[in-house]
Amino acid sequence: MPASHVMDVESLARELNAAIAGEVRANEPMSAHTTFGLGGPADLFVTAVSRSDLQAVLEFCRDRKVPVLPVGDGSNLLVSDTGVRGALVKLGGKFDQLSLRGEEFTAGAGAGISQAIAAAASGGLGGLEVLYGVPGSVGGGVYMNAGTRHGWLSDILLSAEIVDQDGASRSAAPRDLEMSYRHSALQEMDPAPFVVSAVFGLRAEEGSTVRERISALARDRRGAQPLNWRSCGCMFRNPDGDSAGRLIDAAGLKGMRVGAVEVSEKHANFFVHRGEATAFDVYRLAMKVKRRVAEETGVDLKLEVRLLGDWPDE
Ligand SMILES: Cc1cc2nc3c(=O)[nH]c(=O)nc-3n(C[C@H](O)[C@H](O)[C@H](O)COP(=O)(O)OP(=O)(O)OC[C@H]3O[C@@H](n4cnc5c(N)ncnc54)[C@H](O)[C@@H]3O)c2cc1C
Repeated sequence: MPASHVMDVESLARELNAAIAGEVRANEPMSAHTTFGLGGPADLFVTAVSRSDLQAVLEFCRDRKVPVLPVGDGSNLLVSDTGVRGALVKLGGKFDQLSLRGEEFTAGAGAGISQAIAAAASGGLGGLEVLYGVPGSVGGGVYMNAGTRHGWLSDILLSAEIVDQDGASRSAAPRDLEMSYRHSALQEMDPAPFVVSAVFGLRAEEGSTVRERISALARDRRGAQPLNWRSCGCMFRNPDGDSAGRLIDAAGLKGMRVGAVEVSEKHANFFVHRGEATAFDVYRLAMKVKRRVAEETGVDLKLEVRLLGDWPDE
């Protein structure tokens, strides 16, 4: 945000609040919007509840040269303790809608992946449950090409609707979005476009059959992941042909700590927040692990978690 706006966050928030049906908060602590429970204030934290709201937010921010970034449920975000300048925009309200037509399932980008899986199962559609256990929103899932060992979001995505920051909208197939392991072309676009909805191609199945599969997947997850502590899921991407967790474990780093952040004993690629941690503690632990794994194995791990705000060079 330009210096002239720095002192003006409260009045910008009031002005934008009056212009949209959604909500605008000034200096909103991101610890309240991330699964890690960490992160300093966003200048503006906006919830846009409809297409027209999103258009109004984009126009408002464009006119005032306020940088805009979409966020979902914060399950893959590490936000700096000094916060984020500009407007973080989350999609809610009408963007949470889910609908079925035949074997096509349309989900608003603000809907939770878990709600979408449950709704698809209730509507007698299977296939989306390969994403069972991935927290976060449909929009965040498309951006990250979220996945599990049972499948990736791009396997079942027919198209996503994208709104650019100039307000133009288009439909994009997985191929157009160059989706691969935890990657979509959206990650390289600046300014960041919004995913506003996604259409999935599923298959007709008895809801009870899908729900049985979901129960088995839930048991697997509970056994493999430290779900009783706050985290961001996997900290690093898996390198080609290997797993980051295996490499961290092989380097003897399970249990390593910085402050109250620890490399989980249960799953070495999960860093768990065990008390009064800072986001910088997480970052320092990540950099220590990255260095040690490089020394021990020669592999340069890349962060899967998205860093927002200011950070020292890796
Ligand atoms: C316990 C736990 C387990 C996890 N397990 C998995 C797993 O098995 N597989 C997996 O893939 N991930 C996993 N994750 C990571 C995370 O849930 C996924 O990356 C998820 O897709 C992020 O979605 P989100 O809505 O929380 O996005 P956020 O964390 O809010 O944002 C992530 C990125 O997406 C962008 N973004 C968000 N919404 C939009 C939108 N509407 N339009 C455009 N860009 C957007 C943001 O700018 C940001 O760069 C796990 C996380 C946790 C905490």
